Amino acid sequence: MYKEIIAKLLEEIATASEGRKVDLMAVSKTHPITTILEAVKGGQLLFGENRVQEIEEKFTTDRSGYSLHMIGNLQSNKVKKVVPLVDSIDSVDSLKLAKKISSVALSLHKVMPVLIEINTTEEESKGGFKSLDDYYRLLEEVPNLRGIKIEGLMTIGPLGGSEKATRRSFASLRNIAQESRVRYPELNFETLSMGMSGDYLWAIKEGSTLVRLGSAIFGRRGER
Ligand SMILES: *Cc1c(COP(=O)(O)O)cnc(C)c1O
Repeated sequence: MYKEIIAKLLEEIATASEGRKVDLMAVSKTHPITTILEAVKGGQLLFGENRVQEIEEKFTTDRSGYSLHMIGNLQSNKVKKVVPLVDSIDSVDSLKLAKKISSVALSLHKVMPVLIEINTTEEESKGGFKSLDDYYRLLEEVPNLRGIKIEGLMTIGPLGGSEKATRRSFASLRNIAQESRVRYPELNFETLSMGMSGDYLWAIKEGSTLVRLGSAIFGRRGER
């Protein structure tokens, strides 16, 4: 069943991107591991989860064959738990968190791939850097953060936003990545993780390289 859903989504993504490579992350939060393994059978190999406790309950360290990214708000005191369980942390939104991830990763002889999350909508309740000055301060510190490897940026579009407001948010992430490439040519800002079930086609038009789809794949989530 997931095989057909995913094939259809990949086709839509390829059409919207006009052949440019855009990866598909299946956001499996609230869904049981059995559902995830069914999607793996259907060929889906990249998953996203947003809560540390749920990651601990559903996944083990010796997972093989598919990757898992942490995409939700992460507190420094949970970093120790999540680093051994995920392949990337896509929601780094403070220098403090970046330092903590780096030191935990180094203690495990790992280098953790990360995306830096930017708040592009000025919605207070949301994660992500709200200040670009703070964001650039983090980039200044990168030479001292040997346990992380930046691979790009992530943002969440406005909740229920119009096409115009949503595309403005995604365009601003693309522009920040472009400015970052100019200022820090030695760093990598290739991945632009933007677009969810309600806005991924707009995100692709604005240059997304990774869309994060939950309900479009698994159906509506139950209340938790
Ligand atoms: C839940 C979630 C998604 C997926 O949301 P859908 O609207 O179900 O596609 C994507 N990104 C993040 C950060 C999420 O928390």
